[in-house]
Amino acid sequence: MSNSLKLPLIKNAMSVDVEDYFQVAAFDDFISPDEWDYLPHRVEKNTQKILELFSKFDTKATFFMLGWVAERFPGLVTDIVAQGHEIASHGYAHKRATLQTRDEFREDITKAKKILEDIGGTEIKGYRAPSYSINHSNMWVHDELLKTGHQYSSSVYPVKHDLYGIPDAPRFKYILSNGLVEIPISTIKVLNKNLPAGGGGFFRFYPYSMSKWIIKQINKTEQQATIFYFHPWEVDPEQPKQSQASLKSKFRHYLNLSKTEDRLSRLLKDFEWDRMDKVFKIK
Ligand SMILES: [Zn+2]
Repeated sequence: MSNSLKLPLIKNAMSVDVEDYFQVAAFDDFISPDEWDYLPHRVEKNTQKILELFSKFDTKATFFMLGWVAERFPGLVTDIVAQGHEIASHGYAHKRATLQTRDEFREDITKAKKILEDIGGTEIKGYRAPSYSINHSNMWVHDELLKTGHQYSSSVYPVKHDLYGIPDAPRFKYILSNGLVEIPISTIKVLNKNLPAGGGGFFRFYPYSMSKWIIKQINKTEQQATIFYFHPWEVDPEQPKQSQASLKSKFRHYLNLSKTEDRLSRLLKDFEWDRMDKVFKIK
């Protein structure tokens, strides 16, 4: 018998992009990677908080980790693996793929994969480009990922946005001509336009009821899994504030940080979640 309160049983994919608050693209005009080592680090504590939350709701997830973070906090990588989550790559130094030459990009992803595999002792299959930086100008990214031994990418955001996106890309998992799997970040189609539905700043911006409605729609009407992402700094309202940032960047970075943890708990309770490789059957 149908029960209107019962949510669809489709498993959605939960993911965390593991980077510190000072590594985001919005701040790279005034915080250079040379300074990263000298700033107060909060990524370890915040990621441990997320691990506790996932354990409380018996949720498994995929952690797209920066090689830079793994090198400094190897215990974090081994804790994530020990708790049954998937480790994937977010590259080494969080430089957008659109700002790298093909050789630089290959070097960055090769370095990250090796560090993560050496520390975690598991094969790295997935990759997510910093700031979803794949667009029509650098489609070679997918070839480099395949050549360096990755099996899937979750880097395309099929939306129109000032910083990223391929608005006309497929909205759901697709296989590229070279054989690599691309799992785009979730969107919802409204009046023939794709709106972001995958988490991050939008999850902090929309009321929780709207995020929940969107995921239900994609699961029920389209019979597809959604991909949700967030960052460790999004559960950290106490992080040092960057006064030099533009008003737009400040709005995007600091909006509703104190509400994220509670909203995440509701999300973990209301839906079924699993690792990217399990949901999308990556071997
Ligand atoms: Zn990132």
